[in-house]
Amino acid sequence: MADWSRENLKKDMEKAPATGKSVAVVGGGPAGLTAAGELARKGYDVTVFEALQKAGGVLVYGIPEFRLPKKIVQAEVDRLTRAGVRIETDSIVGRTWTLDELRQKFDAVFISNGAGLPVFMNVPGESLKGVYSANEYLTRVNLMGAYKFPECDTPIIRGKRVCVVGGGNVAMDAVRTAKRLGAEEAIIIYRRGKAEMPARVEEVHHAEAEGIRFEMLTAPLEVVGDENNWVRGLKCQKMELGEPDASGRRRPVPVAGSEYVIDCDVIVVAIGTRANPLLTATCPEMKLNPKGNIIVDENGMTSIPGVFAGGDIVRGAATVILAMGDGKRAAAAIDNYLKK
Ligand SMILES: Cc1cc2nc3c(=O)[nH]c(=O)nc-3n(C[C@H](O)[C@H](O)[C@H](O)COP(=O)(O)OP(=O)(O)OC[C@H]3O[C@@H](n4cnc5c(N)ncnc54)[C@H](O)[C@@H]3O)c2cc1C
Repeated sequence: MADWSRENLKKDMEKAPATGKSVAVVGGGPAGLTAAGELARKGYDVTVFEALQKAGGVLVYGIPEFRLPKKIVQAEVDRLTRAGVRIETDSIVGRTWTLDELRQKFDAVFISNGAGLPVFMNVPGESLKGVYSANEYLTRVNLMGAYKFPECDTPIIRGKRVCVVGGGNVAMDAVRTAKRLGAEEAIIIYRRGKAEMPARVEEVHHAEAEGIRFEMLTAPLEVVGDENNWVRGLKCQKMELGEPDASGRRRPVPVAGSEYVIDCDVIVVAIGTRANPLLTATCPEMKLNPKGNIIVDENGMTSIPGVFAGGDIVRGAATVILAMGDGKRAAAAIDNYLKK
């Protein structure tokens, strides 16, 4: 229905009369774009500040084209700009602009800068050439078009054998991308069993259908390199499942003497992301939880009056629909706040 309506109705947004008030949105992902649209509809003058050269957030730099065609995201962004939303790309709040500058210029601010800071394995050899975070790997391909290199400026190492560490949806996207970049073998390395994988069943099913190899109950110990510091393998250890841990999933326990090396030339680390401190580090008065996520009240307002937040920066890595819901709720809360 959404596809049909986008292609056939082509209806522009109906807007309330201008309120004369303005709102800054930090981050052009699903949370920020949804808030921007709702606020524009309510008659606010909205500017989105986006760090990258394109709006869309994970929808453009993370989720691959084969799962979400970028023209769909672009159509949504175009609809917003037609409704008068300004999108300032290449604008990093916390660097290009400070939050205080935005607070002085705008009547309210919505922060939705996501949770894009990659978590690494912390094993020896992780800084060798050929190790990518899933974020970097997917951004190079999706946003920067590295699959077209040298036509495109951004290169990517096209490994013959690519190991992707992790068992979530991001790992599935990365491993299927590696296969499309021409890897003869693309391998998932996951320390628990299939039943414990956080990826959705259909994502695992698609990966299997595309010939992805799954090395289950396997944990990385060390990245092995050659004399020129290029990745040549991943030293792993077999695991068995013990008692359930705090997450309710059975804990992986190392099997003594089971170490072995998987030959590979590219390793992609997809074991999670955290809140990026780039913005929050510049506003010490903003209350954060121990993981660095912004704390908000029941209206989505942060500890700074007039500054709201939502999406992954509040929840930690979650989902598109939850981020969009936060954007909608924040727009309603900002509307209430500014009316008062
Ligand atoms: C590879 C991958 C696949 C996924 N697949 C799915 C899926 O299939 N289904 C699903 O529901 N969820 C999926 N998710 C999760 C989902 O994409 C996120 O939960 C969602 O995008 C969060 O939205 P957000 O708006 O909070 O943040 P983001 O989408 O991360 O957007 C944040 C935006 O803020 C910008 N930004 C960051 N810092 C600053 C700054 N200081 N100043 C200005 N701009 C800044 C970023 O460049 C980015 O554009 C996936 C995530 C990844 C990484």
